[in-house]
Amino acid sequence: MGKPTGFIEYLRELPLDRPALERIRDWNEFHLHLDEKKLREQGARCMDCGIPFCHTGTLLSGMASGCPINNLIPEWNDLVYRGLWREALDRLHKTNNFPDFTGRVCPAPCEGSCVLGINAPPVTIKNIECAIIDKGWDEGWVVAEPPALRTGKKVAVIGSGPAGLCAAAQLNRAGHWVTVFERADRVGGLLMYGIPNMKLDKELVQRRVDLMSKEGVTFTTGTEVGKNYPADKLLKEFDAVVLCTGATKPRDLPIEGRQLKGIHFAMEFLHANTKSLLDKHQNGSFISAKGKDVVVIGGGDTGTDCVGTSMRHGCASLAQLEILPRPPQDRAKDNPWPEWPKVYKLDYGQEEAAAKFGGDPRIYLTTAKEFIGDGNGNVKAVHTVQIEWQKNEKGQFVPKEVPGTAQMRPAQLVLLAMGFLGPEQPLLEQLGVERDGRTNVKADYNKYSTNLKGVFAAGDARRGQSLVVWAFNEGRGAARECDRYLMGRTNLP
Ligand SMILES: Cc1cc2nc3c(=O)[nH]c(=O)nc-3n(C[C@H](O)[C@H](O)[C@H](O)COP(=O)(O)OP(=O)(O)OC[C@H]3O[C@@H](n4cnc5c(N)ncnc54)[C@H](O)[C@@H]3O)c2cc1C
Ligand code: SF4
Repeated sequence: MGKPTGFIEYLRELPLDRPALERIRDWNEFHLHLDEKKLREQGARCMDCGIPFCHTGTLLSGMASGCPINNLIPEWNDLVYRGLWREALDRLHKTNNFPDFTGRVCPAPCEGSCVLGINAPPVTIKNIECAIIDKGWDEGWVVAEPPALRTGKKVAVIGSGPAGLCAAAQLNRAGHWVTVFERADRVGGLLMYGIPNMKLDKELVQRRVDLMSKEGVTFTTGTEVGKNYPADKLLKEFDAVVLCTGATKPRDLPIEGRQLKGIHFAMEFLHANTKSLLDKHQNGSFISAKGKDVVVIGGGDTGTDCVGTSMRHGCASLAQLEILPRPPQDRAKDNPWPEWPKVYKLDYGQEEAAAKFGGDPRIYLTTAKEFIGDGNGNVKAVHTVQIEWQKNEKGQFVPKEVPGTAQMRPAQLVLLAMGFLGPEQPLLEQLGVERDGRTNVKADYNKYSTNLKGVFAAGDARRGQSLVVWAFNEGRGAARECDRYLMGRTNLP
């Protein structure tokens, strides 16, 4: 344990974010960094409480409680407190292939279950994780570690998101020759083309991809398996396959006026924006929010990224519709510690919109009823209504329109960010992989094997749209089971 009295002496302290009105003028990351002295104090707040719920990684009421990859949090908190950064990095890398990503984008279910959080602000676990890996890179401690021996087995990983990258890194470590197929022009899945640059700098993703290449992983971009690389060829040429294709089928809103120009899925908007940014605006175009009234439909992470991106384009106004009620300020009685705290949070995008337009752009308990055109085929407004949640005859809560609440909101750009419906089906159909009732690949958690011998599945393609840290958990697990299948035993965790 770091300092027995640390949690009494030091208050929780996070680094400041760059001021909202300044950061919307560029695409750089918005978090600043704490100095080393303060980081060590924050590490000292960890009580090493005996039963560290922070690293249990269980599901409580359907939400993660504790770290899904079982990071050895109390150990590295203590090492940071003692200034043993190199040792902290080694402990961190034991359970996490890419803390540079989780340290930036993880919602930190570990902090929701920190024992200190019962009656005081929890330890700043995520920030300490980020500081450890950033220091590791700065000091030159993160270097290529190719395996000493090769097994001669060939594995194909389809999809290069966080699940695919973790699976590839682990299988390569076990000595297999790994080829990652990615249909996009860059590697990283949603780490590259979903989460915007201000939240996760794309150079950090590329830096990891380059390191993996040095370690012997082959990346084949611009290759959509099942389209320009036949699925049956894959099964013939590789000893095993890990499907990490994500859950990229967006939920649509088929209401009157949906065909109008200016209504886009969030991922069309976000992908094109990052691609244009990385291509230095030379190749292709992006969907611009500049000077437009923007309505984002959906109040989750994807919606927040649409808000942050629209702010950087210079939108004229912004409204974000959320069908659920505004969460409470503090934990509700039915949401006790160590469950994930379902409380109100002003995320970075909303903070920026509030700084510019004077308030949180989210409008709760509200949905779109119709898109209104301008007579020339373009959207010009969204007709919205308030809803309330009522129980139907089966006892399920369903949204009901509140009469007399219709409103017309101006919108020349509408972004649909209402979640995802599962993996795209064509490749799965070609392979003959079984699906579950939600169209996800059918494979048991912790086993990851599909109905096809030697074919495994991990990440959003198996569990549905989730989190980066769960994709890490599944990618690592699928690699372990794939290694066991290939070698008859495994040393992978
Ligand atoms: C906009 C947005 C923001 C998010 N923000 C966060 C966040 O802040 N924190 C967080 O924890 N989670 C966040 N998430 C969720 C998180 O990104 C996902 O849960 C995670 O990326 C899933 O990883 P994955 O590897 O399973 O799939 P993905 O990251 O979706 O990667 C799948 C990859 O497979 C490729 N692919 C698909 N089919 C084929 C094929 N046939 N051939 C070749 N390649 C193929 C796709 O192009 C894609 O690159 C966000 C999601 C979105 C959409
Ligand atoms: S990966 Fe996420 S849950 Fe795990 S320690 Fe880091 S911030 Fe916490």
